Amino acid sequence: MEKLRDNFGRTFPYIRLSITDVCNFKCGYCLPNGYFKPSNAPGFLNIDEINNLVEALSCLGVSKIRITGGEPTVRKDFFDIIKIVKNKKNIHNVVITTNGYKLNKIADQIVDNKINGVNISIDSLNAETFRKVTGHDRLNQILEGIDVLQKKGFKNIKVNAVLLKGINDNERDFDQWSEFINKKKIDFRYIELMQTGDNLNYFKKYHVPSSVFKDYLNRNKWNSIDRVSDAGPSINYVSPNSNGKFGIIAPYSRDFCKSCNRLRITAKGELRLCLFGNTGVNLRPLLKNSSQKKELLNLILTQLRFKKESHYLEIGDTGATPHLASIGG
Ligand code: SAM
Ligand code: SF4
Repeated sequence: MEKLRDNFGRTFPYIRLSITDVCNFKCGYCLPNGYFKPSNAPGFLNIDEINNLVEALSCLGVSKIRITGGEPTVRKDFFDIIKIVKNKKNIHNVVITTNGYKLNKIADQIVDNKINGVNISIDSLNAETFRKVTGHDRLNQILEGIDVLQKKGFKNIKVNAVLLKGINDNERDFDQWSEFINKKKIDFRYIELMQTGDNLNYFKKYHVPSSVFKDYLNRNKWNSIDRVSDAGPSINYVSPNSNGKFGIIAPYSRDFCKSCNRLRITAKGELRLCLFGNTGVNLRPLLKNSSQKKELLNLILTQLRFKKESHYLEIGDTGATPHLASIGG
């Protein structure tokens, strides 16, 4: 089996697969005006195309697939897609990222379909702040969803928040999360706000370096731990006084790209080598039929040669990404 490997010796056991650009939330940094369907836009990959795609990825040594969006759970065939991905030979780890709005309704299916992990985005534990950031007064509904999932014995839950200046970046917020993760035995990560094509003004107003949270962790004696090979980009911290872990995802940090182990595929079937790259190739013409598998494998392998060593975010080059709902974050 030929493995996905780039010119810099990095391997790619991890794919983030977006299945829709549609989202029902209006997060200020992502889709502040909600999702609008561009006219004449092609539809999202259908279930047969996803099957052919995932079959090829399995042949390329991919072991982990994260299903994301937009909001992936808005798709009616969401669990049919999960079943297909779960059924592929080498893919041992099928996880999802969701805004959690219907977790309470789908908790049973998450457990029954043996999804390996759920990341839920919650920017604040303060209901009013949550509403201001997302445009939706649904914090309690989402927290209830977490409780339902935990009551069913589901273990691998992580909560992510985007770190936002003056919104969720003070000691009180950090203490609140600390209490939450200890009580719920859940891991929590702050993601540093990223600049995208559409959010420059928001970025200028709300970006704060993740070092403010790192300083808090150091002050409170949290210790960083090593990452495993198909893990996400988070640097994780543990404390003997907590049942949960903290993490920081800092895309602007110097060494962030060195440990890159993932590729992205958009909901319309474009392979993106970097969240912030300008290069992408449309795989869709080769997803129509399972007989195209060899060509598809070749195309993906050839594309990897074009993966750059690093993004250029720090000089404001956001690449082809207008907002992260268009690529799955
Ligand atoms: N709708 C789902 C959700 O919100 O979890 C999945 C898609 S969303 C694009 C994936 C992740 O990207 C979320 O955790 C979200 O907070 C994060 N995100 C979106 N835009 C971002 C930005 N500009 N900077 C940092 N993180 C961002
Ligand atoms: Fe939707 Fe997720 Fe973007 Fe928020 S971050 S608008 S929930 S896609």
